Amino acid sequence: MDLGLQKKVVLVMAASKGLGKAVATEYAREGALVMIAARSAASLQQAAEEIREATGGEVETCVADVSKRADIDSLMERTIERFGGLDVLVTNAGGPPGGTFDDFEDDVWERAFQSNLLNVVRLIRAALPHLRYRGGGRILNITSTSIKQPIEGLILSNTFRAGIQGLAKTLAVELAPDNILINTVAPGRIDTDRVRELDAARAQVNGTTVEQMRSLHEQHIPLGRYGTPEEFAKVVVFLGSQANTYVTGSSLLIDGGMVRAL
Ligand code: NAD
Repeated sequence: MDLGLQKKVVLVMAASKGLGKAVATEYAREGALVMIAARSAASLQQAAEEIREATGGEVETCVADVSKRADIDSLMERTIERFGGLDVLVTNAGGPPGGTFDDFEDDVWERAFQSNLLNVVRLIRAALPHLRYRGGGRILNITSTSIKQPIEGLILSNTFRAGIQGLAKTLAVELAPDNILINTVAPGRIDTDRVRELDAARAQVNGTTVEQMRSLHEQHIPLGRYGTPEEFAKVVVFLGSQANTYVTGSSLLIDGGMVRAL
C-alpha cells in the first residue's frame, strides 16, 4: 500500500521521546518531512539525530512548550518557514499527574487544562489555515484508553481526554468540507517512560515491585504484553496518511484488546 507520504510535511508535538518520537520516526521512514517539538533543545536534537540515523529521513526540531500559546504559534511559523506548508498535525503532550479528586486544587486542574486540552485547540487553530491552503490534511490526537473507560487514579486524564474526543468528533463534521480528516488514537499500555513511571508509582503505593505491577497489568491484556511504540506509531501513520481517505471522527484503541467496552 502506498501511504503517499513522500515529502508531505508532518508536525509531531511532544516528540523528544516515547509515542511522539516513535510516530515521527515512522513518518520519516515513509519519506515525510518531519518537524518535532518539545521543551528541551538537547533532547530534541538527540531524538532528531536518532531518527535521521534510523530512517535517513529529514527531521527538524523546534523548542516549544505545548501549554503556551506563543510557543505553539511560533512552532507553526517555524514549520511553514522550514518546509513551506503543512499536511499532517499530530497533537500530543506529556501526561497529566496521577491522583484522585481530593488530590488537586484549581491550579493543577488549570495546568492540566492548558497542557492536555487547550493545547489541542491551539494546535489545530494554528494548523488549519495551512491545511486548508493545501486543499486538505490529516489531524491525529494522541489521547488514552480513558476515552472509553476511565482509569483509576488518573482523574485529570479521564476528564480532559474525553474533551479531546468531543472536540475531534465535532471537528470531523466541521472540517469535512475542507477535506481535513481528524481521528483520535488511544494507547493502552505502550512501553514508554510514562508507563514505566506510572507502574513505579503504583508499585510503591501497593508495596510491590515494578515487574510485579507490569505482570499484573499484562494479565489483563488479551495479547499478554505491553505494546511497543513502533506498533502504536504504525497505526497512527496509516490514519494520518493519504491512504486513509474515509476514516474521520473515529477513535481507535491501540491496546492489545485491553479495554472490554463495546
Ligand atoms: P513520555 O513521557 O514517554 O513522553 C512525553 C513527551 O512529551 C516527551 O517528549 C516530553 O518531552 C514531551 N512533553 C512533556 N511536556 C511537554 C510540554 N509541556 N510541552 C512540550 N512537550 C512536552 O510519554 P508517552 O508515553 O509518549 O505519552 C504521550 C502521551 O500519551 C501522554 O499524554 C500520555 O499520558 C499519553 N498516554 C500514553 C500511554 C502509553 O501507553 N504510553 C497510555 C495512555 C496515554
